[in-house]
Amino acid sequence: MKRREFIKKGGAGALVLGTGLGVSGVAQARPEFKWKMVTTWPKNFPGLGTGANHLAALINEMSGGRIRVKVYGAKELVPAFEVFDAVARGTAEMGHGAAYYWKGKSEVAQFFSTVPFGMTAQEMNGWMYHGDGLKLWRELYTKFGLVPAPAGNTGVQMGGWFNKEIKSVADLKGLKMRIPGLGGEVLKRAGGTPVNLPGGELFTSLQSGAIDATEWVGPYNDLAFGLYKAAKYYYYPGFHEPGTTLEAIVNKKAFDALPKDLQAIVLNACKVVNQDMLAEYTARNPAALETLLTKHKVDMRPYPKDVLEVLRKYSQEVVEELGNKDAFSRKVYASYKGFLEQSRRWTGISELAYLQARDLS
Ligand code: CA
Repeated sequence: MKRREFIKKGGAGALVLGTGLGVSGVAQARPEFKWKMVTTWPKNFPGLGTGANHLAALINEMSGGRIRVKVYGAKELVPAFEVFDAVARGTAEMGHGAAYYWKGKSEVAQFFSTVPFGMTAQEMNGWMYHGDGLKLWRELYTKFGLVPAPAGNTGVQMGGWFNKEIKSVADLKGLKMRIPGLGGEVLKRAGGTPVNLPGGELFTSLQSGAIDATEWVGPYNDLAFGLYKAAKYYYYPGFHEPGTTLEAIVNKKAFDALPKDLQAIVLNACKVVNQDMLAEYTARNPAALETLLTKHKVDMRPYPKDVLEVLRKYSQEVVEELGNKDAFSRKVYASYKGFLEQSRRWTGISELAYLQARDLS
């Protein structure tokens, strides 16, 4: 549909065109499109919520005010885990969250967020933009009436917060832990009970004993939620989330109604936020870790090597099963696996070899 026709028909989000003088005296377009962005994050939550705010602000600014996006935190317009449906049905034109939250809609969607023992942030971006990742993701979401885009990355996460030591895989047995996505399936295989809760509910659930353990993101975000007040041990590394891609989703009808330049602005604003959020985590995690360790005396420990070995074996099983569910899963899995295999070799002799060399003492 042409823009003019769309406006004439009174399509959602479209306003009357016109220009006026802004306070600065510079000619400013009145918004042609007023969009709502619903998110799975608490409003203004560091990194994630502020990343969504940043995305909205960039779209407003880059479009010269032609698109105005208003951001809603979890529960403000819809609950955290209804973001996908709300954008699909057009209650909001945009959403910000993570693809593994939607495994109830499509299990294969989890490949587009993060895979236990899978790709790092750097590798995910390579697969998304210069491999087939984003192309396959778009293909999958088209049937839901959505356009997805990578819009943030946390980098390697932490393993999580526990009230008991994890000395062997047997210590995970019977453990009720908040851990979303494929990581949850891995925990299940180790005898634990994974639950998924939105971030805003983690602290009270852990403190009340409704869950025994939780993972969230990493020092920057875990400090903000005060998780150290509700658990004794902080384990690493986050084998289950080695570089989680956050997603922006756009209602496909709303996206298709945009002129080409505004479509490019929306997608490129996502790309900027995708990079910027990773930079923010890279900058903020070290100081937050320092605060957790020195000020709050957190007992931080690495997962024992043999625990990681067992979890890696379970992860391979879980991922392989998911990747063989149907024809489309096989296509995504083949692409993901192929890219990871190639990256493994290159990352091993570049990033890994270099970091080992740098930290030789
Ligand atoms: Ca997490």
